[in-house]
Amino acid sequence: MTDTTRTGRARRRAAATKTAPAGQRSRRGKRLSLIIPMHNEAPVLDALFERLDATVGGLKLALEIICIDDGSRDDTLERLRLRAATDARIRAISLSRNFGKEAALTAGLEAATGQMIVPLDADLQDPPELIAEFVTLWEQGYDVVYGVRSDRSSDTPLKRTTADLFYRLFNSVSDYPIPASTGDFRLMDRCVVEALNRLPERNRFMKGLFAWVGFKQVGVAYVRPARLAGETAWGYRKLFRFAVDGVTAFTTVPLRIWTLVGIGAAIAALITGVGLIVRVLIVGRDVPGYASLMVALLFGFALQMIALGVMGEYIGRMYQEVKGRPTYLVKDRIGFDA
Ligand code: UDP
Ligand code: MG
Repeated sequence: MTDTTRTGRARRRAAATKTAPAGQRSRRGKRLSLIIPMHNEAPVLDALFERLDATVGGLKLALEIICIDDGSRDDTLERLRLRAATDARIRAISLSRNFGKEAALTAGLEAATGQMIVPLDADLQDPPELIAEFVTLWEQGYDVVYGVRSDRSSDTPLKRTTADLFYRLFNSVSDYPIPASTGDFRLMDRCVVEALNRLPERNRFMKGLFAWVGFKQVGVAYVRPARLAGETAWGYRKLFRFAVDGVTAFTTVPLRIWTLVGIGAAIAALITGVGLIVRVLIVGRDVPGYASLMVALLFGFALQMIALGVMGEYIGRMYQEVKGRPTYLVKDRIGFDA
């Protein structure tokens, strides 16, 4: 909790050498909260809970499994209800409609009561076997232990390329770099989650917020398997919105860059103008430059449109924040009084 100012480079160095920081902790008597957002995940539920029992079930930790039903259209919620009736570790929050994974995670983080908190995908793409190692590193004093996907061969080449491009773009403009190939899968100490819960923004780009809060962090490499069953809810359109959400939430470079582009265009126009005048003075009047005129005009027009569009992206988000609507609405809470 002391080390809030670590730079990305220092964090990466820590990830590479895994030098244990001083503070030692013990898992004895502590509770682990798993947070599992679910959107139409009925086909994977049985396998999921079986795997969780076989892995985190043996960690000598009290367990709390918070499932967030994010407006599923299948019988995810009914199945959760059945399980919660017989298993006191299972809690379910049912959102009033599909709010998206980030909102579902936010709901889970706010409901978690454990000393350690681990968000996890329902489709078993985040192998729960890894949590044992996360807990060991937490005991060594790390506040955040994040999974690093060392092999994304389970994703399509197009998805890998676009994801790569996004991380490179994001990290080149954001003041708070995200370690490449990390997802939401990580273990966080209670102090980190409390910090996250204090952030008031509604545009919840979790990966970015995770990086923003700081604390002592370390990465653990793992191979990301393919989705167990069902299908991904993220089409490319949704992923593009997600990327724009991420960039606009963490940097204003796309807004400010237009000042530079404008200055550059003005200088270019000045040089061209002077050149034209000099030419008219020396060789006399030229053939009317219709083509060059049109090109310059259209180019300038396009630049203005892009600039306006970028402003629109930010103003739209400011509008969202100003309205102050809640990030999610809860329809039902199951198993929380137990
Ligand atoms: N998810 C969610 N709400 C949504 C979309 C997805 O809660 O609107 C959950 C989904 O059930 C899963 C996790 O987010 O547990 C990751 O989703 P998915 O596997 O579809 O994404 P991918 O692994 O393809 O990135
Ligand atoms: Mg998945």
